[in-house]
Amino acid sequence: MPQRLGVSTSPVKTQELVVATKNKKKLEEIRELLKDLPVRVSSLADYPDAPRIVEDGRTFEQNALKKAATIALYTRQLVLGEDSGLEVKALHNRPGVYSARYAGEDATDPKNNRRLLSELRGVPMKKRGARYRCAVALADGRGLIGVVSGACSGRIALKPKGTFGFGYDPLFLIDKFGETFAQLGPGIKHAMSHRYRALKKARRLILEYLSRNA
Ligand code: IMP
Repeated sequence: MPQRLGVSTSPVKTQELVVATKNKKKLEEIRELLKDLPVRVSSLADYPDAPRIVEDGRTFEQNALKKAATIALYTRQLVLGEDSGLEVKALHNRPGVYSARYAGEDATDPKNNRRLLSELRGVPMKKRGARYRCAVALADGRGLIGVVSGACSGRIALKPKGTFGFGYDPLFLIDKFGETFAQLGPGIKHAMSHRYRALKKARRLILEYLSRNA
């Protein structure tokens, strides 16, 4: 029986990329921003027994690294850890890494937004400057691949407006448009957000990784 040398009959396996998050909205944005990469995106929803990650870092980068490293050790796959949040100038950069839990352990987006508005009561528009920050870390079963970050400047509105997005988006005003991310929608958010800026750098790392491991 002649052998068919050099012709592989097994299907080409797409590289998996595990996004170390349970946040559906965040995952949706990450999927959209990485949609043209040759990877199969999964998340912690696909790994229900993965270890719980305690976000105790003092910076977004530390938390992103912890997420990527913990899940890469567990899955032995290429993993993307993302940590993000809001820094408000008048609040000395709070809530920062505590953005998700700003209103306490049972925090929800509306509760966090109410807390932010109450902390900024009486602060005039020109002093309500803020920025979103996002750190992205990549790791696989062998170790860390890289950490990158991105930021997006804005201003905290006097009341929530709009329904798109999540988290603080109804309060995050983009000066150039005079509207919040929640009013502007995904088209504009995905072209300028902190997450877009960090993932643009992460894409390069992923592509380099894929070509090294092809
Ligand atoms: P963590 O990265 O899971 O710790 O949570 C990040 C938190 O920061 C979210 O729960 C939101 O409150 C806030 N946040 C991060 N990125 C965004 C965004 O793009 N829009 C609105 N809120 C955000």
